[in-house]
Amino acid sequence: MADDIQPQPGIMDIALYEGGVSSLAGVSNVLKLSSNENPAGPSDAAKEAFSRAVHQLHRYPSADHTSLRAAIGEVWNVDPDRVICGVGSDEILHFMCQCYVGVGDEVIHTEHGFAIYRIATLAAGGTPVEVPERERTTDVDAILAACTPRTKLVFIANPNNPTGTMIGQSEIARLAEGIPPQAILVLDGAYAEYVEGYDAGLALIEERDNVMMTRTFSKIYGLGGLRIGWGYGPRAIIDVMNRIRGPFNMSSAALATAEAAVRDTDYTEKCRLENARLREWMATALAELGVPSDTSTANFVLARFADTAEAQACDQALRDVGIIVRQVAGYKLPHCLRITVGDESACRRVVHTIAQFKGAKA
Ligand SMILES: *Cc1c(COP(=O)(O)O)cnc(C)c1O
Repeated sequence: MADDIQPQPGIMDIALYEGGVSSLAGVSNVLKLSSNENPAGPSDAAKEAFSRAVHQLHRYPSADHTSLRAAIGEVWNVDPDRVICGVGSDEILHFMCQCYVGVGDEVIHTEHGFAIYRIATLAAGGTPVEVPERERTTDVDAILAACTPRTKLVFIANPNNPTGTMIGQSEIARLAEGIPPQAILVLDGAYAEYVEGYDAGLALIEERDNVMMTRTFSKIYGLGGLRIGWGYGPRAIIDVMNRIRGPFNMSSAALATAEAAVRDTDYTEKCRLENARLREWMATALAELGVPSDTSTANFVLARFADTAEAQACDQALRDVGIIVRQVAGYKLPHCLRITVGDESACRRVVHTIAQFKGAKA
C-alpha cells in the first residue's frame, strides 16, 4: 500500500535546492549575475577540446580519469593517485556523506554555509548541525564547541559562499587539529583559484590524515554547464570514495575539456586578475552609495542593505532592468543580495541601477 512505501530517513526533510534564477518573464536579454559564473566563459583551449570530443562520443569514457588526474597533479603539484573526479564538486560532497555518515551521525556546517552540505547530510540519513558564524565569517571556536563523539564531517567553504569571506591558514590548521578523532574536515575550495597565493589547504592535507579538499571547474574555469569537480585528500579516504564512485561518472567530453582548462593557467590567471579588479571597483562604488559589503575573496560581492524590505526593493529594481542577482534569505541573510562580478559593462550596469535605486529612495 502507498503508506508502506517510504523513502530512507531524512530524505523528506530535504527542501528542493533553488538555483540562481536565469530568466525573467518578458525580458529577452537578461544579465545573469546569480550563480557566480565566469562572465568570460571557458578558455579557447577548453572549447576546442570540447569540440574535438564530438568525434569520440560512441566510446565509453575513461573509468579511472588518468589523464585529467595527471594534469591536475602537474598544475597543482599534487599526487594524482589521491585525486578523485566527480560530476561537479557536489558529487564529491555527496560521496563524503555517503561514505562516512549514517543515521545518528552529525555533520557540522556554518550558519551561512552552502546549501548542499545540509542536503548531502540528510540524503545520507545524518543530522546537520548548524554553527553560528561571527560577522558572516567562519568561527573556529564555535565549530569546535559544537563537536561531539557523533561528529563525522565538518564542512567549511573557504572562501565561503554567499559571504565571500575566508579564514586564514592558521585558523584552518587549528580546526583540523581540534576536531575529534573520528571526524574529517572538508575544505570546499570552489573559489580557491580567485585567491592569490592560497593553497586551498594542500599543505595541511599533506601533513595530516583528517583533511579533505573539494574543487570545481564551475567557477573560474567557466564550465558549470559540464559538471566537473575534483577532490584531494589522504589515500585512505580517496580509496573509500572510489568504491562507490560510478566507473563512468565523468563523460569523455567533460574529461577532455577539464584537462585543457586546467592546463591553460595563463587564462585562469587572467580571469583571476580581472575578477579582482572589477570586484574591488564594484564593492567600492556600492559602498559609496551606502551599500556596504565584507571584503570578498571570491567572484561575488554580498551587498548589505538596511533591511529585508530594502534588499527586496533593490532586487526588484534590478529585475526591472533585466539584471538577476541572488536573494540569499535561504542563507539567513534576507537583508543582503549576492551579486556575481560580471564583465566591466555588467558591473557598471549594476552600480548604475543601484545608484538610481538609492537616489530614487532618498
Ligand atoms: C558553486 C559552488 C560549488 C560548486 O559546485 P559544482 O557542483 O562543482 O558546480 C561548490 N561549493 C560552493 C560553496 C559553491 O559555491
